[in-house]
Amino acid sequence: MSDCIFCKIVAGQLPCSKVYEDDELLVFHDIHPFARVHLLIIPKAHIVSLAECTPEHERLLGRIMLLAPRLAKEHGLDSGFKTLLNTGRGGGQEVFHIHAHVFGGGDPVAHI
Ligand code: 5GP
Ligand code: ZN
Repeated sequence: MSDCIFCKIVAGQLPCSKVYEDDELLVFHDIHPFARVHLLIIPKAHIVSLAECTPEHERLLGRIMLLAPRLAKEHGLDSGFKTLLNTGRGGGQEVFHIHAHVFGGGDPVAHI
């Protein structure tokens, strides 16, 4: 996906503040954080959104969900954190490469 900014980050063509990487996933700090800690967990493969996921993505989605509490703990979010997946324009999605927001710290995050 040549015009996808998250694919460019995965390819090293755009910088990011990386916090975790493995063969399938990349995690970095959101450029406009909602809270003291605001991470984005993305698959390295280009998947547009949750709406494009199929049963073959079940394991990958599970890995994203299980990584969230681990990284939240590593970033000191001991009292809790918020996870958010925006899907489609109507769901507030702006970057069309699936990503899970993980954020918290500072004042309690009531809702988004
Ligand atoms: P969405 O609304 O699609 O769920 O959220 C996209 C998120 O990506 C936004 O919170 C936005 O701040 C973040 N973002 C957009 N472009 C970049 C970028 O180039 N680098 C980083 N680190 N975050 C970005
Ligand atoms: Zn992409």
